[in-house]
Amino acid sequence: MKTLNQHFINGQWQKPTTDNVLELLNPSTEQAFAKLHLADKTMALDAIKAAKEAQKQWAQTPATVRARHIQNIVTELKKRRDAFTNAMVEELGCPKSFAEPVQVDDPIDAFEQHINWTLALEQKQQQQVDKRLQVRREAIGVCVLITPWNYPLHQLVAKVAPALAAGCSVVVKPSELTPQTALLLAQAIDDAKLPAGVFNLVIGLGQDIGDTLTQHQDVDCISFTGSTQTGVHIQTLAAKTVKRVCLELGGKSPYIIADTDNLQQAVALGVEDVMVNSGQTCVALTRMLVHESQYEAACELAKTQAESLQLGAPEDPDSFIGPVVSKGQYDKVLDYIKLGVAEGANLLTGGKVAGKGYYIAPTIFSEVDNSMKIAQQEIFGPVLCIIAYKDIEQAIHIANDSPYGLSARVWHDDRTQATQIASQIRAGQVYINDAFWHNYAPFGGYKQSGNGRELGPEGINEFLETKSIIF
Ligand code: NDP
Repeated sequence: MKTLNQHFINGQWQKPTTDNVLELLNPSTEQAFAKLHLADKTMALDAIKAAKEAQKQWAQTPATVRARHIQNIVTELKKRRDAFTNAMVEELGCPKSFAEPVQVDDPIDAFEQHINWTLALEQKQQQQVDKRLQVRREAIGVCVLITPWNYPLHQLVAKVAPALAAGCSVVVKPSELTPQTALLLAQAIDDAKLPAGVFNLVIGLGQDIGDTLTQHQDVDCISFTGSTQTGVHIQTLAAKTVKRVCLELGGKSPYIIADTDNLQQAVALGVEDVMVNSGQTCVALTRMLVHESQYEAACELAKTQAESLQLGAPEDPDSFIGPVVSKGQYDKVLDYIKLGVAEGANLLTGGKVAGKGYYIAPTIFSEVDNSMKIAQQEIFGPVLCIIAYKDIEQAIHIANDSPYGLSARVWHDDRTQATQIASQIRAGQVYINDAFWHNYAPFGGYKQSGNGRELGPEGINEFLETKSIIF
């Protein structure tokens, strides 16, 4: 059994003084693998103090030097590729075949891109508009970065890298379910010799230290990824000190399969998109919209595809889908599956898997009406709803008939028409046909999926303030 009792504050590894210990279970075996000693409020306050003290110097550090620090961090991250993969297999239950390229290599690549974007900031940070006006882009200050467990490194990188690039100091609070990933990042940053206090890590429960971090008057910006419910709570508390709050929240993303001769390819892609990472993906295309003329065929294809996906231990290189992250998530997803049946949807395939581990088979509901709870609420598990539409106007209406607007996909054999449909969907990202994830595309939501945009050069804007100097 491992002991995880170190938090990183002001360039030092520190142990909590209180004895609040959480036992972490491997979601595949339900066996305890670590005791996590949680950070308390005093540590959260110490981390904010350290970040505040480090902030001024870091903001004044030239962009070229900040870029060099980022380069050093990337070098250290690359040394830990295997350690990150093993951590995510163990704590998240993420299959190795997915963890390595998507959960580890992609975020390291995204971190690396910030070297050039930091250098590009040099010019952007001070623009002489005319003789009388200079516009400066300055670091916003101390940032609290709160992340969930589903893409643990990716979400840390999407906040830490742009914040450091902008010249901000940070206090990071990751999910307590994936602490090993966060600790590996902190170790990389420690070995890269970032100035003390610029990066601080406290792993504590949201309910214990969250409000301390988000209400503090010395915190200038909060960047949060997680559930809409927690996002609303944070924004409400943060309003008292008028700090900037950037929210990346939930989704119930639509996938419109329009006119196509490639129904099999289109459906297979949609099924895999939802099932990967056991459905624990905020952009998962959990509502598949199919024209009524192709509906029956699509349901049949989806069922066949779902049943062909290999479910198994995350260590097995052939596993496509592993367990969900925790007992809480397992119970929640199974409750939604029961609810779908009670609401009158047709359970085509999937459900509970007997035996040890939090395994849920790829699950598909047909005959789903978009007003059902399973079509409106984020389930965050391997569950796909297939909905029929009569014409493309109705498909667009159904796609937008959701409190969320994070992502979408349109499949149409005519690219121009696909783009026209995409322009009518209220979502932060729309993928066309078999397009895949782009690490530099600005990422974020419309409506209750959040505000602000992460990733790409635009992601740095979340951490910049604008100052006009008028002569
Ligand atoms: P939460 O939104 O509760 O947690 C996300 C992060 O916020 C965690 O680090 C959590 O810490 C922290 N947090 C919780 N309460 C507070 C608070 N009061 N102040 C500050 N930070 C806080 O999501 P969960 O991980 O509990 O998952 C619940 C549901 O949220 C999932 O079933 C899923 O539907 C959705 N979700 C959506 C994600 C997305 O990307 N859209 C990502 C993850 C979850 P702690 O874990 O210690 O509570």
